[in-house]
Amino acid sequence: MQIKINKSSLELAQGDITQQDTDAIVNAANPTLLGGGGVDGAIHRAAGPQLLEECRTLGGCNTGDAKITRGYRLKAKHVIHTVGPVYHREGARAAGLLASCYRRSLEVARENGLKSIAFPSISTGAYGYPVQEAAPIALQTVIDYLKDHPEIELVRFVLFDRHTYEAYEEALKRISAT
Ligand code: ADP
Repeated sequence: MQIKINKSSLELAQGDITQQDTDAIVNAANPTLLGGGGVDGAIHRAAGPQLLEECRTLGGCNTGDAKITRGYRLKAKHVIHTVGPVYHREGARAAGLLASCYRRSLEVARENGLKSIAFPSISTGAYGYPVQEAAPIALQTVIDYLKDHPEIELVRFVLFDRHTYEAYEEALKRISAT
């Protein structure tokens, strides 16, 4: 599914984010930035050991913030590492922190002159955020950002499994209809 926000495109795809050829891919990292399971492990495996070397120099990352590295063996030239909220730990703060992940990642992309960026579904794996709640927050935050920043030309959500893809599709249809 694809929609236009002025001249920018917002796309939903089902697949593996490590294979994307966007200027940057976003990693759903943990605060150490030293690797982990899920999409984080997959990105480090695909990028090679130099990614971890660069991550060691960054001094970690706060929940809701984002930091950029090179992409090494990935097709994407950059990885933007963001730390999503652990759903059950953050309570009422979770939604704001999740939105901040998407906004800060886009800000970092824009500061570095990047035009296309691929996101996974942040926090909806090991961090336990229900995807039906996370999807509308993710999409609305990106749409609001693209309205104000046309220099980002493409945002692609790369959803790993059918269930997650369908939750995002459902949420995007609902947002588009309003
Ligand atoms: P978090 O700790 O932020 O919850 P996870 O990596 O556990 O991060 O899960 C986030 C989402 O990323 C989940 O929907 C998971 O299925 C998905 N995912 C796992 N591997 C990949 C991949 N290679 N490409 C895209 N998404 C992936």
